[in-house]
Amino acid sequence: MSERTLEFHHGKHHKSYIDRTNRFIQGTPLEKLPIVDIIRSTAKDTSKRPIFDAAAQAWNHGFFWQSMTPGGGDQPTGEVLQAIDRCFGGCAKFRDEFKSACVGQFGSGWGWMVLDGDQVEVVSTQNAANPMSQGSVALLACDVWEHAYYLDFQNRRADFVDTFLDHLVNWNHVAMHLKTRADWAA
Ligand code: FE
Repeated sequence: MSERTLEFHHGKHHKSYIDRTNRFIQGTPLEKLPIVDIIRSTAKDTSKRPIFDAAAQAWNHGFFWQSMTPGGGDQPTGEVLQAIDRCFGGCAKFRDEFKSACVGQFGSGWGWMVLDGDQVEVVSTQNAANPMSQGSVALLACDVWEHAYYLDFQNRRADFVDTFLDHLVNWNHVAMHLKTRADWAA
């Protein structure tokens, strides 16, 4: 991921979601809530869709940055590896499924590795939607909106997803969220 992509994506796109969320909640009962509660309390209410979209995108991007680390990718270890072996039948199958979900998401959205009950699964979501608004726990996020890859890869989303999987995934982040799932599932 180039410096230019990171500057635009983090400095402009992510910032605008945070600024919009702050504008929407200012002077409302949502103002004092943690962002996850803002997301949960607006997810099912279509009249609050603009607030949900801004807040979910603010959170999704924070989670996305934490899903990556310089020199990441490669193979997971420990409990993450065990969960992937148990639920996908190996890292190669997980990789195929995750890539298919990311590449196959029509239009803007996200690819996720999630925990649903005791199962680790791959899902994709449209626009701002995220696992927390659908009842599961996020473990790993890949932003597949065009702004995430267009400067570096133009239309080649699959090449961006390959780069994410092979060089960027922060497996320590996945392991941490797998361990603290009780907090998120509560
Ligand atoms: Fe983005």
